Amino acid sequence: MPPTHFARFLRFLFAAVSVLLAVPVGARAADDSRPNILFIMSDDHAYQALGCYGSKMNKTPNLDRIAKEGMRFDRCFVTNSICGPCRAVILTGKYSHLNGFTRNGNTFNGGQQTVAKLLQKGGYQTAVVGKWHLGSTPTGFDYYHILQGQGPYYNPRMKTPDGIVRHTGYTTDIITDETLKWLKTSRDKSKPFFLVYQHKAPHRNWQPGPKYLNRYDDVTIPEPATLFDDYKNRASPASTQTMTIERHLNPNDLKLVPNRSLNPEQAKIWNEAYGPKNAAFKKADLKGKDLIRWKYQRYMKDYLRCIDAVDDNVGRVLDYLDESGLSKNTIVIYTSDQGFYLGEHGWFDKRWMYQESLRTPLMIRWPGKIKPGTVNHQFVSNLDFAETFLDAAGLDIPADMQGRSMKPILLGQGVKDWRKSFYYHYYEFPGPHSVRRHYGIRTERYKLIYYYNVGEFGEWELFDMQKDPQEMRSVYADPKYAETVKDLKGQLADLRTKYKDDGTVDPPRKKRPGRKKRSPKKAT
Ligand code: CA
Repeated sequence: MPPTHFARFLRFLFAAVSVLLAVPVGARAADDSRPNILFIMSDDHAYQALGCYGSKMNKTPNLDRIAKEGMRFDRCFVTNSICGPCRAVILTGKYSHLNGFTRNGNTFNGGQQTVAKLLQKGGYQTAVVGKWHLGSTPTGFDYYHILQGQGPYYNPRMKTPDGIVRHTGYTTDIITDETLKWLKTSRDKSKPFFLVYQHKAPHRNWQPGPKYLNRYDDVTIPEPATLFDDYKNRASPASTQTMTIERHLNPNDLKLVPNRSLNPEQAKIWNEAYGPKNAAFKKADLKGKDLIRWKYQRYMKDYLRCIDAVDDNVGRVLDYLDESGLSKNTIVIYTSDQGFYLGEHGWFDKRWMYQESLRTPLMIRWPGKIKPGTVNHQFVSNLDFAETFLDAAGLDIPADMQGRSMKPILLGQGVKDWRKSFYYHYYEFPGPHSVRRHYGIRTERYKLIYYYNVGEFGEWELFDMQKDPQEMRSVYADPKYAETVKDLKGQLADLRTKYKDDGTVDPPRKKRPGRKKRSPKKAT
């Protein structure tokens, strides 16, 4: 190289290095080492049906991996146990009365502050694939590929920024295919990601995928101790609901009528599986408790078959994280939008402040940060998720979010002033399954519930969770608990003040005489 050319080359090299050094830190170029966040949520997956929570009815080896390699939370409570509202709480870090989404059928106001928007603004690439169920188009997400409304189990039409995509196949598989496609080909590798991967399964009406239709045919699923609950010794709402396995599962739920969402090839496989089982059921001509037991088995087996597909598919995603080397810097969260009844109190569905629907599964893996195989017993909540993600990403938590970052808990640092009581508020009445409106407080020992729109003065329940963990006997009227009731009522009023719930959002409508009764909305 002649000397003049060499000098020119040196000048170019110097200029190039200067430009590279001048990249502002705020732009967080290719070396952004902040953790990726993979948030996996299924719909109505009860903790009772997870191996890592001690299930005696099914195995979930892939989901259990997250607990085994991370932390399992034994008291993760939801603030309002119903699908859409839980999703809105997670996005906003606020109770339903402040995020405006109190009940299914509302439309989420996407103009408000959300964790997705804050992460996006903070330099994360954001995407949501699968169930969305918030009515409005996602905001704060660079990419979306979502089911419309509830979405079907088979052959879903999904909404993307480029329009509707018609898929053929089983929805749980398709949601995973699209999630992997985004991870493999669409991701901006210079940025950390916030990927929301959400299943429709195992939501009602529990349609299993073709591979799973005959699983559990030869086993009997254990029955819960309270399958034949008579609802005595509690306030009246326990007996006026419409969510019993005995009377409220319909022929579609029970697969006693043809499945019209299938193409001919799928229908053939489906009919070969259910045809003989249904013929045997008709021949048996069951009555009374035997019929309830049969319905319970049919419900549970289909429910578990749907979970098997979720477990297999989450396994595919975890495997890809391992193969690609992404595992080590990705926080993986698995949860359900809320808990669910698997025959406890004779029920399916959710909504109540009782244990099975209040408590939702939560497992979090963060290699190098969370000690593998740890279990946490503190009162955490879906109200804390947004705050936790922002904290993990090194971003500020807005003062108007109402939960708290769980990051210190994840890192194993003791948190002495963590919440010792939890506030709950359910609104959807009138509504599907006729569960009365209620709010209440859970403490270490007790649960106090107020059904505020029943009769003239409402009705109360108090459960001593130590003596009665299955919540079968309210001790509200027992004089021995009078002081406890007084104390808890004071604490409950304080929590309502703290969370700014003055009862003015979505209040019960006054009954007008002579008004025609509306037909109940479609179950969700
Ligand atoms: Ca749900």
